[in-house]
Amino acid sequence: MSFLEVKRVSRDFGEGNKALDDFQISIEEGQILSIIGESGSGKSTLLRVIAGLEKKDEGEVWLDGEKVLGPDEKLVPGYAEIQLVHQQLNLYPNSTVEENIARPLLLFDKGYAGERLETLLSLFQLGSLKGRLPRQLSGGQQQKVAIARALSSEPKVLLMDEPFSNLDSIQKREILEELREIFSTLNVTVVWVTHDLFDAMAISDDLCVIKKGKPIQKGKIADLYAEPNSLYVASLFGPINEIPDAHHLYLRSISVKLFPKPANNLLPGKVISSRFMPRFNLLHIGVTGLEKEWQAEDEHRMYKPGDEVFLSYEQGDVLKLNA
Ligand code: ADP
Ligand code: MG
Repeated sequence: MSFLEVKRVSRDFGEGNKALDDFQISIEEGQILSIIGESGSGKSTLLRVIAGLEKKDEGEVWLDGEKVLGPDEKLVPGYAEIQLVHQQLNLYPNSTVEENIARPLLLFDKGYAGERLETLLSLFQLGSLKGRLPRQLSGGQQQKVAIARALSSEPKVLLMDEPFSNLDSIQKREILEELREIFSTLNVTVVWVTHDLFDAMAISDDLCVIKKGKPIQKGKIADLYAEPNSLYVASLFGPINEIPDAHHLYLRSISVKLFPKPANNLLPGKVISSRFMPRFNLLHIGVTGLEKEWQAEDEHRMYKPGDEVFLSYEQGDVLKLNA
């Protein structure tokens, strides 16, 4: 059995609204797993079920050989060894950074508590801020305090539910890079959910894609990119074009080759729009005879709206995908 096992869990909120549908996943000790799915796909419900805070209609959750009980099976719901952090940080507003982080350590041995606090302050680079109150910190710093506090009593698992949605992208990038380091130093098991693939990639190599309460693909992010098992998974990584007159054959925008002049075997089209991206202009192209536009990367920034353009691709770049 793996360290953390979610076994055939279903959660039905009524009227056939299955937030989790026969959900199965296993996570190894020390693994950092990102779970990605669109809004309403069941991400928060999954984390709450793992934490023992949400009732399961069917199935079981096991952590380190012990069954995790739901709120209907246990007098005080939840477990100290399973910490859940979300956007609402619930920091103690009148306690300093240091006091907030040390709060879960109150009943621990003084020597241990002091050492643990120092370790976390230094890992999270919060030492110079330890005397401040939460309102005297930036959003990113507050988020770090909340995560440090969740880790203070050495939980077996840290669960994070889109904790960085409030941060601006610069703060977010910084904290994600720091966390990647911190998690590997502490060797903690982390399951975190996001709807942003780039956030997921910043923090972990393992990804599980969920849709309508079911995991649809799990593996190394690089493998999911190379061999997506569905149009849904492929689309997470960028625009996907449908190849005309073919069954379930698709092409990434990056695989489209652009030519200014007609030639054999080129698909004719017209540039509809061009959007600046850091390394290319992203074109929307009306392909002759096709209802749905294609998207292509114009790395030399050659084409403008209204231009004629001719398209080709390599057979090796074609993806066969089911919807
Ligand atoms: P996500 O976090 O991926 O956005 P959620 O787990 O919050 O998704 O929700 C999954 C589905 O379950 C949604 O359709 C949502 O409306 C429904 N849901 C979640 N919590 C409740 C609840 N307490 N009562 C009724 N429906 C709920
Ligand atoms: Mg959610």
